[in-house]
Amino acid sequence: MAKIRKLHQQLIAKDRTAVELTQDYLDRIAALEPQVHAFLRVNGEAALAQARQVDAQIAAGEPIGPLAGIPLALKDNLCTQGIRTTCGSRMLADFVPAYESTVTQKLKAAGAVFLGKTNMDEFAMGSSTETSAFGPTANPWSLDRVPGGSSGGSAAAVAAAECVAALGSDTGGSIRQPASFCGIVGLKPTYGLVSRFGLVAFASSLDQIGPLTNSVEDAALVLGAIAGHDPRDGTSIPEPVPDYTQALVPDLKGMRIGIIQETLGTGLDPQVAQAMETVWRQLQDLGAEVLELSCPRFRYGLPTYYILAPAEASANLARYDGVKYGLRDQTCTNLMDMYQRTRAEGFGAEVKRRIMLGTYTLSAGYYDAYYLKAQKVRTLIKEDFHQAFAQVDALVCPTAPTTAFPAGSKSADPLSMYLSDLMTIPANLAGLPALSLPCGFDDQGLPIGLQVIGNVLREDLVFRVAYAYEQATPWHQRPSPLS
Ligand code: GLN
Repeated sequence: MAKIRKLHQQLIAKDRTAVELTQDYLDRIAALEPQVHAFLRVNGEAALAQARQVDAQIAAGEPIGPLAGIPLALKDNLCTQGIRTTCGSRMLADFVPAYESTVTQKLKAAGAVFLGKTNMDEFAMGSSTETSAFGPTANPWSLDRVPGGSSGGSAAAVAAAECVAALGSDTGGSIRQPASFCGIVGLKPTYGLVSRFGLVAFASSLDQIGPLTNSVEDAALVLGAIAGHDPRDGTSIPEPVPDYTQALVPDLKGMRIGIIQETLGTGLDPQVAQAMETVWRQLQDLGAEVLELSCPRFRYGLPTYYILAPAEASANLARYDGVKYGLRDQTCTNLMDMYQRTRAEGFGAEVKRRIMLGTYTLSAGYYDAYYLKAQKVRTLIKEDFHQAFAQVDALVCPTAPTTAFPAGSKSADPLSMYLSDLMTIPANLAGLPALSLPCGFDDQGLPIGLQVIGNVLREDLVFRVAYAYEQATPWHQRPSPLS
């Protein structure tokens, strides 16, 4: 579980070269991928070329930033110029973007090394990485379990030590829930903090890109590198990016933390509930004042999300028509036939379900009853958080109601699959930063995740709570059996 800071020190001390470090990870990938399948594509040559550049800089005595020479993995919905970007879909199986996403541009400029693109649920719709058109990913803690989703490939790659850190995207929990299932740290930033330019759109009012890492400090370092205003994303926040590592202090003195009452009730795995009770005491021991707090509309998050996200998806995915991008059916006889056949062949069952749901709730007779109403409930959920943050600096709750479930156990039951995002969705609806970090293990040895939610642009406070908790507990020190 190599951490960025330590590797950076090794590189500048010339204890090892960036090429050696990159080759080590490529070797691990080659050895582990037959079991894990976290990657859809590994770009070894390109990675080594990036590493050589960093080594040349070091040899020339030039200063390098903390991410220079650090091997990372990228979720396959981030556009990488000249490198295939499939979104886990047959629709984009051969899509090679003509441009680079803002986040990957920023990481490249920081000298980071890209090992490859990671597996994901098709178009980021799913919670298990099982809807990928290219086969599932296994959980490094137990190969018969799912890694979570949709950023399951990124989470598994970090947990199996196939990369130092990875990027994922989170629309309803897709960074935090896999981080929880794989025993690592995952952050969904404030909506608008990280540019979405070059992220293949799922639900644009909810999507955010964020880091999956081995430690809170690593998450702070990666966020610092990818955050910031971008004129190419109309929802990007024009604020300077602070140095998030400044927030990493090992105590919680003077902080008020709320535990969200509504997340502790029915449906919660008893072992997760028990872990939360311990968390309560641990936060107090660190000097925080901890109180139970109600967010009464929290529980409407899931139904609200499953109106709004499919509605936005149905509009965003209209562009895959066989003309502009990706797949085109070759057997068609006329234009309409081409649209229909292309979409029938290109999309998997879950994506089709979302498009149909979204088209239905946006249709003339149902718009007011569903879409408009869901928008109003979204405002009420924001209001609950607003009231909570008048009383506390941060909120905590479990990341997911359970630990990683067995592969195949929920694939036939969409509703039970959707329920695994019960606790992550509200932060997306409200645009708030939220982080998952390990807070224990169940009796099967599977990791349990703690979610820390902050107010808008208060990533610093989220990091502070997470860092103090991490440093005071042993959970992050236990490596997965595969790492
Ligand atoms: N699992 C949720 C869904 O299927 C969230 C996905 C995501 O955050 N991209 O919509």
